[in-house]
Amino acid sequence: MMFDGYGTSNNNCNKKKKPKKKKKSSSGKKKMAAEQTSAAKSIQEWVFPESSVPPVDDFQVPRSHRLAEPLIFELHSHSICSDGFLSPPVLVERAHRNGVKVLALTDHDTMAGIPEALEAAHKFGIRIIPGVEISTIFSPRGGVEEPVHILAYYGSWGPARYEELDSCLASIRDGRYLRAKDMLLKLNNLKMPLKWEQVAKIAGHGVAPGRLHVARAMVEAGHVENLKQAFSRYLYDGGPAYATGSEPLAEEAVKLICRTGGVAALAHPWALKNPVAVIKGLKAAGLHAMEVYRSDGKLAAFSDFADAYDLVKIGGSDYHGRGGHDESDLGSVKLPVLAVHEFLKLARPIWCDALKDTLLHFAEEDPSNSNLEKLVRFGKIKGLKADTTLSCGEDVIDLCLYCGLTGEERQAVEFEALRLKLAHTFIKKGGRQMSVISRQISR
Ligand SMILES: [Zn+2]
Ligand SMILES: [Zn+2]
Repeated sequence: MMFDGYGTSNNNCNKKKKPKKKKKSSSGKKKMAAEQTSAAKSIQEWVFPESSVPPVDDFQVPRSHRLAEPLIFELHSHSICSDGFLSPPVLVERAHRNGVKVLALTDHDTMAGIPEALEAAHKFGIRIIPGVEISTIFSPRGGVEEPVHILAYYGSWGPARYEELDSCLASIRDGRYLRAKDMLLKLNNLKMPLKWEQVAKIAGHGVAPGRLHVARAMVEAGHVENLKQAFSRYLYDGGPAYATGSEPLAEEAVKLICRTGGVAALAHPWALKNPVAVIKGLKAAGLHAMEVYRSDGKLAAFSDFADAYDLVKIGGSDYHGRGGHDESDLGSVKLPVLAVHEFLKLARPIWCDALKDTLLHFAEEDPSNSNLEKLVRFGKIKGLKADTTLSCGEDVIDLCLYCGLTGEERQAVEFEALRLKLAHTFIKKGGRQMSVISRQISR
């Protein structure tokens, strides 16, 4: 979580031990084991799509031997692109060292770190889920307003309608600068002048500042004794130096994630003042999942909420790289095989649809080289940056389909239709049009 919510979160995690269940019968156990094996197999197929991996891995272990290994998914992490301390490549390297096979980079309100993370991940043979943690406001009718963080997870090709998502994120980031300046103005009127440079320095280069950064500047300037005082006297919600940002409503953010082909998940619900109202409101807007696993285990109360509202249960370390004993490390949240399986079962069709949507737009609107660059904006295919390769629509489809899709997904009928559609389109390259010749797929 971002420190912006300082002083408002409570940490009672409602962790209760469930009463012990009766021993499972041996046939029940067998069924469970079979379920787990098939889930593990399907996860394995997604993590290592057959076309992209050699028959042995980095350590020359035949792939068939790897089923026994648990595949560690880390679904919540931050880099210096928001308030984390490590650069995306260093973060990826650390994840790899910790045995993580799939890493979601979920910086606050930006996807700026994804291309670098993808590049580093390629080197280490791990998979990146392009993500973002969106700052929003939940504002119930007649209830208390509160900040809510919503995680968005996208497929390898990123969001469909990227511009729509990006303009929302940019406005949140801009809003944070304006808001911090607003707070400084109010503090100045209260005879507690602060220099903007000081706040910006505390936040770090290029990072949108938050309330905690202002509070730290207040302590440094001697206006208050500590951070708690800064919040309890001046910066609390509605306080004399409080200012609002331009975060979207939580429901709107969830709808935006759904529209852009992402999986929407509620982050750290245990930090909310009124979790039930938030979960209920966001479920109605299309929320898919919710964090319930932490490095200290599953939170029973939130797991029950997730069941009650039919949300997929996930979790991640929310690693920032601050150091210190109280920080959960990358890969420290042990997601059960069945939880990962449920997550992928939910996400994969959504991501496939997003790719179809992107390709359809490409085919219908502007099948040109410049548009092609947008299609691969996360730098997945390096060759494309140079003035080479893709001369026909079919190549586009092939590259997309062979990048992180399993055989089953590639065979989807709609992709074949798209292939045919693009086979009859032209790709404009350097001002001249090139006709596209269709080839039969035999792979
Ligand atoms: Zn976070
Ligand atoms: Zn957060």
